[in-house]
Amino acid sequence: MSSMNVKRGDVVEIIVGDEKEKGKRGKVIAAHPTDNKVIIEGLNLVKKHIKPRNAQEKGGIVDQPRPIDASNVMVVCPKCGKTTRVGHTLTADGKKFVRACKKCGAVLDVKEDKSTAKKSAAKTSTAKTKTTTATKKKAETKQEITKEE
Ligand SMILES: [Zn+2]
Repeated sequence: MSSMNVKRGDVVEIIVGDEKEKGKRGKVIAAHPTDNKVIIEGLNLVKKHIKPRNAQEKGGIVDQPRPIDASNVMVVCPKCGKTTRVGHTLTADGKKFVRACKKCGAVLDVKEDKSTAKKSAAKTSTAKTKTTTATKKKAETKQEITKEE
């Protein structure tokens, strides 16, 4: 069985189905390659009855996205914004194939998540350093006060 071209995090458009859902776009929040299904955020909703599992939880009816056949959706290229068939292109180092837009050639497997995580981690450590310096200064001030006494 060929592997599914739709992956979690992709934006896809529903290309077949009833008028209510056809043409709508959403983000894939789960992909199930074994049964060729994807779950799209906010689309193909089904009313689901929820039973409260504890006192804090409210029961009731919620709209939950239902899995949709991956063949009913097309990947939307983040660069050209068009629905596209997924092609495969070699990475710059020629070591592996990545998914690419057949219309504009943009690589779809962008590793944005990693760089974003790195950036935010760097920010956090800078903030921490600042806090440490501030705490140190405070401590110094306190010491001076103690000396004066
Ligand atoms: Zn494209």
